Amino acid sequence: KPNRKPEPTGPEKIPGIDRIIAVASGKGGVGKSTVAANLACALAAEGRRVGMLDADVYGPSQPRMLGVSGRPQSPDGKLILPLRNYGVTMMSIGLMTNDDQAVVWRGPMLMGALQQMLSQVQWGALDVLIVDLPPGTGDVQMTLAQKAHLDGAIVVSTPQDVALLDARKGIDMFNQMKTPIIGMIENMSTHICSNCGFEEHVFGHGGVVAEAEKLGVPLLAEIPLHLDIRLASDGGAPIVVSKPDSAQAQAFRKVAKSL
Ligand code: ADP
Repeated sequence: KPNRKPEPTGPEKIPGIDRIIAVASGKGGVGKSTVAANLACALAAEGRRVGMLDADVYGPSQPRMLGVSGRPQSPDGKLILPLRNYGVTMMSIGLMTNDDQAVVWRGPMLMGALQQMLSQVQWGALDVLIVDLPPGTGDVQMTLAQKAHLDGAIVVSTPQDVALLDARKGIDMFNQMKTPIIGMIENMSTHICSNCGFEEHVFGHGGVVAEAEKLGVPLLAEIPLHLDIRLASDGGAPIVVSKPDSAQAQAFRKVAKSL
């Protein structure tokens, strides 16, 4: 199968960055950024030197999720100093625009911004750079694969058919770009009531497991729909940081250990 191809793709490696792992989804709103933020914090908790490049041009949410604000400084007008929280060195396309400025990027601008984030940001020495991709199969994905040495991709999906259909397209794109698929993560797998612990399969059950099996890619985790996860992400301290002993945080830690 093409997705078993071990060779990473893309041009030259970025000096100092050991591995680049993209977190992708076919559809928006499936929790891709939440997964990316928690994986980054979990990697940091493992003692890995980790960076987060938030390339989700349509809804950059890493500054909010990782609790950072302010403008990245550029003392010499060339190099950009990233921000840092929870042991994660981060830069977001959202920090290069105003909060309420609608992002209507044209192709070349997009490439320029992405290129800047890859080459002008002083990432320092990193074991892993996580890239939070926009949903879908567009320009950013293509540019990234052309400009950077992508070592692997993690595809996040909910169990719903519509989301799975788009996730499949995403996996297909990575196969075409010869980016190895590390695995899929099922998010909002079941709903766990924060009051009584009752578990309900809001978006159906088993969809991603079956899809992963069909595509021959590993299922890395099943993350439930849980109020604590939303409160944590939206409050600027991902659950891996704010409730490290919870089952949800442990699930992310387990994935991070395997990376
Ligand atoms: P995407 O990056 O795919 O657009 P987000 O990570 O921004 O999705 O998630 C969309 C919303 O859903 C956010 O408010 C987030 O906090 C919430 N969310 C994501 N995953 C979960 C989960 N497992 N349980 C509860 N809320 C979640």
